[in-house]
Amino acid sequence: MDLNRRSLLTAASATAAAGIAGGIADPAKAVPKGQIRIGTEEAFSTREHMRAMKALVDADPEVTRFDYKLWRMITSDLEADTPKRLLDLEKIRLAEMDEYGVTMHLLSLTSPGVQMLDADTAVGIARSTNDELAETIKRHPHRFAGLATVAPQNPQEAVREIERAKTKLGLNGIVINSHTNNEYLDNKFYWPILEAAEAFDMPIYLHPRTPSDQMRPPFDDYNMGSAFWGYGMETSTHFVRLMMSGAFDQFPNLRIVLGHMGEAVHFWIWRLDYMSAPGVSRGESPIKLLPSEYLRRNLAITTSGQENPDALRYSIDTLGSWNVMWAIDYPYQQTPGAVQFMDNAPITQPERDAIYWQNAKRIFNIQL
Ligand code: MN
Repeated sequence: MDLNRRSLLTAASATAAAGIAGGIADPAKAVPKGQIRIGTEEAFSTREHMRAMKALVDADPEVTRFDYKLWRMITSDLEADTPKRLLDLEKIRLAEMDEYGVTMHLLSLTSPGVQMLDADTAVGIARSTNDELAETIKRHPHRFAGLATVAPQNPQEAVREIERAKTKLGLNGIVINSHTNNEYLDNKFYWPILEAAEAFDMPIYLHPRTPSDQMRPPFDDYNMGSAFWGYGMETSTHFVRLMMSGAFDQFPNLRIVLGHMGEAVHFWIWRLDYMSAPGVSRGESPIKLLPSEYLRRNLAITTSGQENPDALRYSIDTLGSWNVMWAIDYPYQQTPGAVQFMDNAPITQPERDAIYWQNAKRIFNIQL
């Protein structure tokens, strides 16, 4: 390569990096320098939450379920990398966001939130966590937004907390970590939560946790109850149960958000429709629309922990670019990988803007 050609290419790539559109043939490469990036599944914890989780998992040393093992590890040394990053909100985190050009974290209390705790403890910790979260956001309104923690164990208190989170704390949605005491949100006991989420325009981020006791045995070996496989199976099954219960007919404006590229639910879109035709195999279900219609109306997905450009392209084409949001899954996934994935994904710049920040702003009512 002669020198002139090389310097020309260097100049061209510098231009591309700077986001100057002129002369760039491939829109996928033209990431503007000032690209806004909102990560929508970014975990944190508090000292109080850590203490409660430690007391819980240490009280039953014979339980070998994946979540118990994980939480014994996390709470054994709060100075280790993961707990340190979970507990930190304003130092390590903001520095890392700055380093990789991440504009904002939509924060959520790390899984399983308060859902393994007894109901009264859970209600109290949900409230104080949301207060602490709102204080942090108030200090950095352009860097953080947040999902409220609720205790589904007590639906009436959860409803009160949803109202408070929306009207007093200005939070942006709710996080629920899949099952609660092995029960799913299709159970009518929890429907006041769905009703309040719809009424207050608070999307429910249905985040994974270890499979329920009914599902768990096949996941107990090989650590399969983890994010490796069990989390996705648990959470996708939860969403399909919710859909088949008729919850989206009862609450047509309810929005569920699934991470990890939609926990693969929409990869079944054709088969869900085909199999739900009368007389095929659906059996008794009260749903009025086709599964695909709920997937496009009541679901949004994020890219957390799935840096796969083919899965991204499929998701955009299937659900619409307006239903896909970017997420890192901090601190469990690495920020540079998530940024490089979305910066280099073979999509148009308007699609990239939608996924990087515009959809999050609209769906979670985020003020930038
Ligand atoms: Mn996560």
